[in-house]
This record gives sequence, structure tokens and C-alpha cells, in this order.
Amino acid sequence: MKDCSTYISNLCDYIDGDLDPELCKQIETHLGECPDCKVMLDTLRQTVKICREDGRCEELPEELSRRINVRLRERWQQKFGKK
Ligand SMILES: [Zn+2]
Repeated sequence: MKDCSTYISNLCDYIDGDLDPELCKQIETHLGECPDCKVMLDTLRQTVKICREDGRCEELPEELSRRINVRLRERWQQKFGKK
């Protein structure tokens, strides 16, 4: 099974609908089995929505997706212990 980070790094494109349909399917399957990634997707979606409604940014800032990535890693480490 692929690492969560593989999916997380594609979530922005997934939300934008830019993603390869095959990859989309893989992500959806993974989200069904992985509550952490599901939470992350919801958070990301909310953030993007707020961001767009404000008209401040069209695209999710790289900085933000990096921060989300870091936070997810921290959660994994708490959950699974140190890698
Ligand atoms: Zn996951």
C-alpha cells in the first residue's frame, strides 16, 4: 500500500478536479479506508473554499499544502510511533 503522503500531495489536484481519473479512483478508495486522510481532505477543501470566496487566491498556496503535509506527518508519528 502506498504511503499516505503520496495521496496527500495529490489532494489539491483532486479537489480541483485536475487529477487523472485513475489516480482519483485510487485516492477515493484510500480515503474510504483512511480516516486521517479523509480529515485532511475535508480540511483542505474547507480551506480552499474559504480562500476562494475571499477572492484572495485562485490556487492553494504551496506554503499551505506544505504545512498540511507536515501536520499530517506529525499525526502519523503520534499514531504509529516514530518511523
Ligand atoms: Zn491515508
